[in-house]
This record gives sequence, structure tokens and C-alpha cells, in this order.
Amino acid sequence: MLPETMRAMWCERPQEVELRRLPLPILGDEDVLVEVAYAAICPWDVRAFSGLSSVLFPRLLGHEIAGRVAAVGKNVNHLQIGQAVTPDMIVKCGTCKACRRGRSNRCQRPTFQQFGGGYADFVRVPQSNIHPIPDGVSLKAAALMEPLACVLRGQEMLNLYPGEVELVIGLGPIGAMHLQVARAFGAQVIASDPVAARLEQARALGATWTVNPMETDLAAFIQDVTGGWGVDAIALTVGSARMVEEAARYLAPGGRLNIFAGIYPKEQVHLDPNQIHYGEWVITGSADSTPTNMSRALDLIAAGQVQTERLVSHLLPLEALAQGFDLVKNRVGHKIMIEVNGER
Ligand SMILES: [Zn+2]
Ligand SMILES: [Zn+2]
Repeated sequence: MLPETMRAMWCERPQEVELRRLPLPILGDEDVLVEVAYAAICPWDVRAFSGLSSVLFPRLLGHEIAGRVAAVGKNVNHLQIGQAVTPDMIVKCGTCKACRRGRSNRCQRPTFQQFGGGYADFVRVPQSNIHPIPDGVSLKAAALMEPLACVLRGQEMLNLYPGEVELVIGLGPIGAMHLQVARAFGAQVIASDPVAARLEQARALGATWTVNPMETDLAAFIQDVTGGWGVDAIALTVGSARMVEEAARYLAPGGRLNIFAGIYPKEQVHLDPNQIHYGEWVITGSADSTPTNMSRALDLIAAGQVQTERLVSHLLPLEALAQGFDLVKNRVGHKIMIEVNGER
């Protein structure tokens, strides 16, 4: 039996969040109601909560979710009640040019739910947005499908060959995923971050080399381990124009650079076009993810090639969401996750 109301962390305006009881979402024929088990906090959620993005208020937040099917609309035939799933919270239109070109991550008419989010007992999404969680994958691990899908998209832009050397700059939860995907693609990885605990974790996750750029000259280190060649690929997970300029200096001939993080406030980069020309560099971006990226992200987790659950440093109850936002803002710990209804 479903309850009549649910708990939800209501954001009336930026910087204000409180626990409220709301009616359950009403299901259309194609919809699935998911009881949220876990919802992780993304830096994007914190930016939105802080009023630094263009999202509408009042609203609910939370898009890195795993849970169980609680109810289905009458046209949904392929899901069982209680089945473990992870919902994609952005509904792509399926008809715009971006969708038709296989870039539904850049859908021109996406639907965002202002009053649906993972920091609540239940979320409603259309069945087309439900990804069943493979057997053997925990709900906590699957809750990080969405960020891993974005990382996978970024790594695909780098077109790695086995044996190449990739530099991953920044080893927060996103960098720790980049490093694992690059290893899964067969690359050797130089993992760079100024925080010792993150370097230690990177080693445990399979980094070939780790380096603290505050203690060691990164340029000399790269010269040394690549025999003067430079790195074949770079995943830049830190939002900094200066870092784009610095990173480009490490690229080998034919090197690829993925600017993975958005850069706020906006800044310009200064690059020598001749270096791009003669070096045959490829400078790429990547943003969000497609359903294909998500499906493949779940495969990587199921295969044990990317470990996501061990990136979770804090598990907080739903009412402690504001505290979780503060932890992310102050870069305390690693991935912060809200235990909404947990495993039960
Ligand atoms: Zn996210
Ligand atoms: Zn579209």
C-alpha cells in the first residue's frame, strides 16, 4: 500500500530548504513511481540551491538516484513492483535535431521536473527514463549511474588506445571515475590532485602514477614518465580556464583534451593556435549524458570495472540535506549521499 503523502526536501527559494509532506505524484499511463533509496549530491545541485543557475523555484532537487519500483501506469508492462531501478530525471523530447543526431544530452526541448527530485520519498518518471539495475549492483553503486554516464561520455571523446597515457586532473568523485574508465579503456593513468587522501584512493582504484602538483613539478613529472612525449589524453575535471591553458602544455602530438567541468564565473582561455595546428591537438567538451551512456555506465559498474560505491564518504539522512550541501560546498569528504529510504 502506498502512503498518501511523502517526505520531500522543499526548496522555497535559493538557500532555503525544509522538510515538508507533499501528496504523491499522480501517475500517467506511461509513468513509473520510484521509491527513492539513495540520492547523491552533485555539485550541480549545490549550485542550483545557491541560486547560481537558472532553475525555477520553488522546487525539489536531486538527480543521482536509485530506488525501487513502487507503482506503474497501465501501459507499463516490463517492470516488477519492487524491482531495483535508477531513473534518468531529464526527459528528452526525442524529436529535436540534437535527439535525432544521437546527442539527446543536448536535447533542445528537454523537460525538467520542478516538483520532482530525489530528495523525497518518491519520484515519477516515464518508463522510457527507467534503467533497470543489473543483478549484483547495489543501490548505492547504481545511484551514481548518472555522473558515471557523464564521465563515460567525456572519456569517449578522448578516443583512447590501449597503452596510451592519460592525465586526470582533479580526483574528486568525478576524477576518480575518469581514472577508472580510462583504465577500463586500457590507458595508463597519471592521477593529479593536491589532496593526499585522494591520491591514496586513486592508487587503490588503479592509477598507474599519482602526483601532487603542489609538491612535484607536474610538467617535469610528465616528461619523465612519458620519456619526453607528453600525455595522449587529458580529462580536466577542475573548472578553471587557467588549468585549460596549463593542461594543454602537457599534450603530446595528437593529444586530446576534454574540458569536462563547466567554468564559473565565465573566463576566457588563451591558447596558441599554432600549437593546436602543428600538434594536431583535439580540444573537446562533453556535457551531461545520453541514455546510451547511462546503460553503458551500469555495465561498467556491473562488470566491476568502475567502483562507485566506495567513492561515497558520507551517508546522511534526508533531513540533513542542507548539511550535505555544505559538505559539498566546502569540499569535505568525497561523494556525499542521502539515504532516503535505504535498502529496506
Ligand atoms: Zn549529477
Ligand atoms: Zn530533443
